[in-house]
Amino acid sequence: MVSGPGGVGKGTVCAVLLERHPELWLSRSWTTRPQRPGEADDAYEFVSREEFLARVADDGFLEHAEFLGNFYGTPVPEAPPGRDLILEIDVQGARQVVARDPEAVLIFLEAPSAEEQEARLRRRGDPEDKVAQRLAKAWEEADAGAELGAHRIVNVDVEACADEIYRVILASRSQQGR
Ligand code: 5GP
Repeated sequence: MVSGPGGVGKGTVCAVLLERHPELWLSRSWTTRPQRPGEADDAYEFVSREEFLARVADDGFLEHAEFLGNFYGTPVPEAPPGRDLILEIDVQGARQVVARDPEAVLIFLEAPSAEEQEARLRRRGDPEDKVAQRLAKAWEEADAGAELGAHRIVNVDVEACADEIYRVILASRSQQGR
């Protein structure tokens, strides 16, 4: 699982990781958040609250959480057997996954500085009130990540960060005897 505050570059790092290691399998989340201008159509499955809640009622999510007023969830994964599943989720979701599978590994990405994080949030076109809310939430998330024993990685360079995540995956495979 890859978590971290908004604007830290989770999406970009995961894209590089998947490009380099096509044996990994990235889950596509559902969200009720509106699509941002310029955001890829396949960044999420963008759904209404009704569709989301219907899937919750059907037990169709591995985990789900409400984040700043919108729902996000990981559909029960269809990853082919034997492939490592990568989830890009918030810490509330990570807590649910660890409860189900204590061997799940959590990476917590951090921005090199609060200024850089703020600049990234603004660049991607988040509304001003959301930028402030996401920044305020960042500390809370870092504490929750530490509590879950996350591997902390500072995202200074995307490629180096993807390499470091892959090293953590390899170490956990060998620990699990795979
Ligand atoms: P954003 O709106 O910036 O795309 O995402 C907001 C937060 O929700 C981020 O921390 C992101 O990692 C998290 N998130 C994205 N997908 C999921 C999901 O399926 N489950 C959970 N619990 N969080 C998610």
